[in-house]
Amino acid sequence: ASQASYEALEPATLGARLRDVPGLAERVGGAPETWQVREVGDGNLNLVFIIEGPAGQVVVKQALPYVRLVGDSWPLPLYRAFYEFHALDRQARRDPGAVPEIFHFDEAQALIVMEYLSPHRILRHKLIAGERVEGLAARIGAFCARTAFRGSELSMASAEKKADVALFAGNVEIPAITEDLVFTDPYYAAEKNHHTPGLDAVVARLREHVALKARVQRMLMRFASNTETLLHGDLHSGSIMATADAVRVIDPEFAQYGPMGFDIGMLTANYLMSYFSQPGHRGADLDSYQEWLLEVIEGTFAAFETEFARLWDTERTGMLYPRCLFEAQGHGSAPARAALLREVWQDALTVCGIEMHRRVLSLAHNADFESIADPALRAPLEARNLMMGRELILGAETIPDAVALCAMARRYN
Ligand code: ADP
Ligand code: MG
Ligand code: MG
Ligand code: MG
Repeated sequence: ASQASYEALEPATLGARLRDVPGLAERVGGAPETWQVREVGDGNLNLVFIIEGPAGQVVVKQALPYVRLVGDSWPLPLYRAFYEFHALDRQARRDPGAVPEIFHFDEAQALIVMEYLSPHRILRHKLIAGERVEGLAARIGAFCARTAFRGSELSMASAEKKADVALFAGNVEIPAITEDLVFTDPYYAAEKNHHTPGLDAVVARLREHVALKARVQRMLMRFASNTETLLHGDLHSGSIMATADAVRVIDPEFAQYGPMGFDIGMLTANYLMSYFSQPGHRGADLDSYQEWLLEVIEGTFAAFETEFARLWDTERTGMLYPRCLFEAQGHGSAPARAALLREVWQDALTVCGIEMHRRVLSLAHNADFESIADPALRAPLEARNLMMGRELILGAETIPDAVALCAMARRYN
């Protein structure tokens, strides 16, 4: 199949087309003609199939040559599957067990065969349903620290890291989506934008704020030009799958090199949007569930910093912050680490504020708010979220820590 030119998969012919993929028939079992195939993709971009047979299930994810959410009027290169595969490979090595196991990659067909996560469900849906996930903060905080640290020249050999930057630099169109939809479109009347009626006054306040737009564009410049580490690039609650106590990360097709605070900042925004949307979803348990979400935010940053510090002490073998400058001269490097983490924190807060804006104003909204049917209920909740995002972008250096961030969320709520 790998030599054949690209063709989108269909459930009816999938068994015949994938029957010769190494190891697949053994994993699924039975005759390929009898495999049960379901298309379950609920994302904005790709096809995702679950193949089921007597021996087990696997997931097949295939890129489409266009944006699924919009249609073939918006072409998008198939090569994103190549970057997703390479990102999954690096994440699996840097944080074993964090991502689904990869069984097969076919570049020409832009498809990845991977472990079926079950009974995991998309975290965003669990948060809308008011479910808690034990260990969520510790797991994802560690993931962010391990991928940030081990994907940087704090730990990697420079030659290896620079070659990887070159590899991922071939990915142009996917980062361009983030550059436009996340960093730019929210702040002018872009064609693909839409927002809930009732938000016009708040939206006008954001768009007329020159200093705000300047800060966002400065962050965009850093996102596009700084190569601190390999990012997941799309780490929101729709890219995390969980059970009551197990957590995995999926869908890194937006992987690119960029600032270390990007992933944890985007994720924090999605927790805060869950927080602000909860009055549209909860009854008696509203307060306790919202407080749990804030605990997740605090716990994620705590786990991030703890794991980052551990790796700093045990795996700092790269070109950056070498021991000859610190430990070898008889004093520790903890102040240098703290200063670096302070910048990472401020980047995270800035990205957080921007993500809170784009999910309400730009093309791809999130179900946390969208599933609140009544716009008169939704708009004021979205307005709180927009106004807190504004304060985060404008005041990133004035917020000392995650405790203060969560206190701010309570003030806007
Ligand atoms: P997209 O890039 O289009 O957003 P995703 O990788 O996010 O695609 O997958 C879309 C959906 O398919 C997910 O929301 C999830 O429901 C399901 N899915 C994806 N990968 C897996 C997996 N390994 N196991 C189980 N379900 C998965
Ligand atoms: Mg997705
Ligand atoms: Mg909306
Ligand atoms: Mg995706």
